[in-house]
Amino acid sequence: MNEIYLDYNASAPCDPRVTEAVAKAMTDGFGNASSAHRFGRRQDAAVSEAREQVAELVDGPPGGVIFTAGATEANNLALVGFAAADSETLSRVRPTLVTSAVEHASVGRTAEALAAAGRCHLQITPVTPGGFVDLEPLAGLVQVTESELLVSVMAANSETGVLNPIAEIADLVHQAGGLFHCDATQMVGRLPFNMTALGCDLVSLSGHKICGPTGVGTMVGTREALAALHPTVWGGGHERGLRSGSLNVAGIVGLGVAAEIAADEQPTEAERVGALCDRFVAALEGELADVVQNGDVERRLPNTANLRFCGADADAVLVNMDPVAASAGSACSTGAIEPSPVLTAMGLSREAAFESVRFSLGRFTTAAEIEVAAREVVTAVRYVRLMTSEVA
Ligand code: PMP
Repeated sequence: MNEIYLDYNASAPCDPRVTEAVAKAMTDGFGNASSAHRFGRRQDAAVSEAREQVAELVDGPPGGVIFTAGATEANNLALVGFAAADSETLSRVRPTLVTSAVEHASVGRTAEALAAAGRCHLQITPVTPGGFVDLEPLAGLVQVTESELLVSVMAANSETGVLNPIAEIADLVHQAGGLFHCDATQMVGRLPFNMTALGCDLVSLSGHKICGPTGVGTMVGTREALAALHPTVWGGGHERGLRSGSLNVAGIVGLGVAAEIAADEQPTEAERVGALCDRFVAALEGELADVVQNGDVERRLPNTANLRFCGADADAVLVNMDPVAASAGSACSTGAIEPSPVLTAMGLSREAAFESVRFSLGRFTTAAEIEVAAREVVTAVRYVRLMTSEVA
């Protein structure tokens, strides 16, 4: 049986049009984008085009596009750059950082590390059982104080696909005089994401979630927000002095092309992939009892379904449905397997979290694959349930 990939939220396959552009940039283009000679200027022009393409995808300012090595680094730049201590910042009141309970580790762990180092006062805002940020407790945390304020909330959750009320959050933050950072890694390219209309000051995104290269991403910021950040990587002063290092021109070109394709094709892709995802879930629900959809299905990315198969351990299901690939949220933490913190933050029990599988579809998923995958998952769940009940 052919392999079937239903793990786009972990990493999407690179679009051949992107691969071609990257290969061309690597063979035809060389020289340092900072060099004044014609070779350097050509590289710089290629980078500028990518800035425009990325800015267009999120409706941000091209001059505010800071290229990084992915969304992890972009998120670190936003948070660490905000809380960075130098002679100027040491004299100010400790800044306040607010994040949600379901952020990606590159926000969550960074925030914890900054708080542990005494560089910020950290508040974590809860989510509803549906998996989105609850505005009421957030409003209580986001108050006008002496302290500078950064709020970081993701646009769409990687595990559940659930969407947050971004415009409302941005409003609350601005009323309190703070800055709003949004990790839009999973939302861009899947649904419209307009940072200006939503009121985001800083936005992170990543190449490999939009069928571009892995290891390249960006943080896009408004002029005012970027002025409030401190560098996290020092050196030759690239990228407005915030992120030094010779630019990865080929990767950046790939990100630009991926962004352009994502902007052009998002509406049709969302419709096609959404219909496939619905059909997949319906097929599973039609064949299997006790399937629960985690997260509010009314406000979710069209490509993502997080399903609990009651009575079937998710890791066992994943092993038995191979070569269909999806993922479970559990992760090894300090030597023990822990349930997904996203699902437990939504109020799921450890048991429920351990029985949950995330399926994420994308640009190259076909109807034929969905049919086969649904059959394989049904067989795997039935097998695991049977084996588990025999053991019990
Ligand atoms: N934020 C979110 C919401 C993500 O899903 C991911 C990737 N899993 C990241 C950040 C990190 O992106 P990257 O792999 O580019 O570092």
